Amino acid sequence: MQALALWQQQQGFSVKDADGILGPHTWSKMKPLLGKTTQQQSSTPSSVPMHACGAIAMPSIFTTIQFSVSKEIAKGASESSYNFTRRMIREIDENPDIWYQNFVKTTFLGVSFNDPIYIELANLLKNIETKFINTYDPVKRNICTVRQRLGITTDSFSGGRSEPTAAIKSMHLFGLALDVNMMGNPFIQNKAIRHEKYTQPNGVDTINDLLANADRLFGVATIRFQYHLSYDSYFSINSALTRYFKIMNDDAMLQQALNTTASSEWKSRNLAVAKAKIQKDLDTLATALVRWTKRDQLRNNGFLNLSKEFVDGMVAGGLDWGGAGYGDMMHFDMRITGVGKKIHDAISKS
Ligand SMILES: [Zn+2]
Repeated sequence: MQALALWQQQQGFSVKDADGILGPHTWSKMKPLLGKTTQQQSSTPSSVPMHACGAIAMPSIFTTIQFSVSKEIAKGASESSYNFTRRMIREIDENPDIWYQNFVKTTFLGVSFNDPIYIELANLLKNIETKFINTYDPVKRNICTVRQRLGITTDSFSGGRSEPTAAIKSMHLFGLALDVNMMGNPFIQNKAIRHEKYTQPNGVDTINDLLANADRLFGVATIRFQYHLSYDSYFSINSALTRYFKIMNDDAMLQQALNTTASSEWKSRNLAVAKAKIQKDLDTLATALVRWTKRDQLRNNGFLNLSKEFVDGMVAGGLDWGGAGYGDMMHFDMRITGVGKKIHDAISKS
């Protein structure tokens, strides 16, 4: 009954109409959707479309499951993730066995996690989700609309992790972190990274080199990228970068910029040479941010597609944004709150 009332509200019924009763009005809206659902279920029985508007809200009570971290020693680490996490959890007087029995497979804003998260993070996200949803008039409340307004563009979030990726001592290993819109919000590292076959350029330096080129072309002075800036600063840096990339597709605008620029370096270039220069810059950035196959997305959206409302809401709810701290634009974790702070303090001392 309650589920039906909720569904009715999601479909835009007024509170008066969302009475949990399957009347003719509800049925007329539900019938075509039921047909569609049956079809989807028969072709892919286990896959619920992530962006379905019905996939609302995290449950009020979570069902816990077991999670395990790797017993292998990762490259660059001195002990296995298994031993490391157990050591840290004992350090804060918690029981590692109980810790890893208290993971949950859940959603956030109707989007699934690809791996479970620790229950404390799930509870915190539940509060944040409720606040995001409650900013809506109950009549118009619908998880799709909320998600769209917040700018969530992904099919899944990254949650718990059994092995470290970039950071050896990652909060993901404890189930205390999540990555949002992974493709649109890369990690911007402040050093070059030597891989087996190539060297990944320093991300921060690359962005700043490109900004310098863009600023000379347009005759403006954009703030330079560095860690610990505000969301607004990153947003304006990102806007300057994407403006530079997008002008490749607008001959008239680019020609006008070349005609009016004060930079002798740009003035000497014709349209084709100028375009080649911007393309090369885009390619370098794609190499630095590991987005070679996503250069179109990088050109259009740059390194940040999270909305200010979303980031502010996450931070107000007790999460630390890696974008402001250390260039991990997609990353949020519990290092400033509750048990997450305890774990993070233990990691810092280790
Ligand atoms: Zn992360």
